[in-house]
Amino acid sequence: MSIKIEEVKSTTHAQRVAPHSHVKGLGLNNDGSAILPISNGLVGQDKAREAAGIAVSLIKSKKLSGRAILLAGAPGTGKTALAMAVSQELGPKVPFCPMVGSEVYSSEVKKTEVLMENFRRSIGLRIKENKEVYEGEVTELTPEETENPHGGYGKTISGIIIGLKTTKGTRTLKLDPSIYESVQKEKVSVGDVIYIEANSGAVKRVGRSDAYATEHDLEAEEYVPLPKGEVHKKKEIVQDVTLHDLDVANAKPQGGSDIMSMMGQMLKQKRTEITDKLRKEINKIVNKYIDQGIAELVPGVLFIDEVHMLDIECFTFLNRALESTIAPIVIFATNRGYSKIRGTDVNSPHGIPLDLLDRLMIIRTLPYSTQDITHILNIRSNVEGIDISTEANHYLADVGTRTSLRYAVQLLTPAKILAKTNGKTTITREEVEEIESLFLDAKASAKLLREQSEKYLK
Ligand code: ATP
Repeated sequence: MSIKIEEVKSTTHAQRVAPHSHVKGLGLNNDGSAILPISNGLVGQDKAREAAGIAVSLIKSKKLSGRAILLAGAPGTGKTALAMAVSQELGPKVPFCPMVGSEVYSSEVKKTEVLMENFRRSIGLRIKENKEVYEGEVTELTPEETENPHGGYGKTISGIIIGLKTTKGTRTLKLDPSIYESVQKEKVSVGDVIYIEANSGAVKRVGRSDAYATEHDLEAEEYVPLPKGEVHKKKEIVQDVTLHDLDVANAKPQGGSDIMSMMGQMLKQKRTEITDKLRKEINKIVNKYIDQGIAELVPGVLFIDEVHMLDIECFTFLNRALESTIAPIVIFATNRGYSKIRGTDVNSPHGIPLDLLDRLMIIRTLPYSTQDITHILNIRSNVEGIDISTEANHYLADVGTRTSLRYAVQLLTPAKILAKTNGKTTITREEVEEIESLFLDAKASAKLLREQSEKYLK
């Protein structure tokens, strides 16, 4: 049996992950203490990092099942950064799916459906397969073109000739035109070492791990199938997808050879919507592959920020979902104290019902010192390729201490643009001061509203 998985891009909200791209882990010593001032991109927040480290050990020893983590702290105290670090501590390619509580309120999709979808985005599936491959260096790469057979303009690719220098000598293979796509996708050129899969002829460039070429049928007579019995290597090919990727791929069959044939049985039904039934069927097949040792479940992290925005219906769903055998690690975050549980008249800590609160390990995040903010600003300006003078950085860190870390980080880019307009390559204090006078932080805005309330519409 062969599993064919086309490259499936996880639709995880990349834009919410990007600001935290410098975070690579919790940065802890072997004894579990936080490495200060900075490690793995994380600055300060030592107690919270240490507590998160303990949570990671619990997760790894499977002692956190049915429970979840709550990060409680003021806005901009690194809750998202910390949650992402937890997912990285769990291993490479562990899914991290961030969402905000208010996302569940949409006029088109049910609240629990939004939650379910995000649950499935946070559960990875690692599929391993031993494939027979020819490995060799490309010595020639010539697409064969023919005039458009239907009389139209232009040429079509009718085949591709690849010279391959393998351990058994150089051979020339004439491959199906559809292979051309995978050659292009992999950006293969002469001199590259590639694999060609023995069964399918799919081409994969060695050294690039993420992309995966499409498999194709090479039975068409005019093409030389790859010779059997001359396998050069067995290669373990690993593909990481999330359950949501599988749901999507099956709900919207695109036709042709680009779809996972692993789920082929289901594709024939040409569904257009992800339904409970479809998910159940996918789970069944996934479980079968897990039993057969072909696939492995990789529970990731579902991060739900502003958890107080969820309502009682969502909490009921979460309580149940946390108990499921295939559940991700759920990390909630809130900056609220005592507040009303949405959909009820009941007040509760963090706006979370007591029965869910009971299942939570609560970690507190504390405001940053000016020095911490200086470090974080340094890291972010490096990542974003922004030059900022030491003086300007310190000044901005002071702004951050007065307002919030997030506000200070957000001023970096406008200050860069201003510096450029002023004909400078480095942000100086002057630009930071000017930018600061142009924008308001939340506290300043609130103060202004209070002072001038009579001028605004109520
Ligand atoms: P919260 O979720 O608590 O609001 P956050 O993690 O979203 O906080 P932001 O206020 O968005 O934090 O933080 C601004 C920037 O500072 C982001 O790029 C974030 O990754 C980074 N950051 C926050 N805390 C730390 C930290 N302890 N170490 C390094 N970078 C951090």
